[in-house]
Amino acid sequence: MPMEKTFAIIKPDACSRGIAGQVLAKIEENGFQVIAMKKLRMTKKQAEGFYAVHRGKPFFSSLTDFMSSGPCIVLVLQKENAIAAWRKLMGATNPANAEPGTIRKEFAQSMEANSVHGSDAPDTASYEIAYFFSALELCV
Ligand code: UDP
Ligand code: MG
Repeated sequence: MPMEKTFAIIKPDACSRGIAGQVLAKIEENGFQVIAMKKLRMTKKQAEGFYAVHRGKPFFSSLTDFMSSGPCIVLVLQKENAIAAWRKLMGATNPANAEPGTIRKEFAQSMEANSVHGSDAPDTASYEIAYFFSALELCV
């Protein structure tokens, strides 16, 4: 199976609680290679652009407030079948429905403050990687 790249965020709720290292440890323990990583704080407009697919939904305004409320860590992860594998390790969007052993089950505080983001398909992974990183920043 070929290597695949996906895009991940350790969201502001995890960074502000000082558990980004624990999330990163899970990422590495599960065989993902971190090929790019940086810490940044999105503006409201940048968060709106990132989540453009959700514009118009009832949670959009609150979500983009939350995502711009403090620093987050953005990453590019590589593994075989990385997109699906990272979604599985994250767990369900609502932590109440997340499987034991997933990051959201262990760390998420709410449906919104759910600690991590992951791309859901190859086209969104490409868009999201390019939103934060240039090709020169990916170190395979
Ligand atoms: N979200 C929310 N309320 C909802 C649905 C989603 O606050 O009813 C937030 C949550 O932080 C989620 C993000 O919006 O991670 C993006 O939603 P999506 O449906 O894409 O979930 P994900 O792909 O992150 O599991
Ligand atoms: Mg999504």
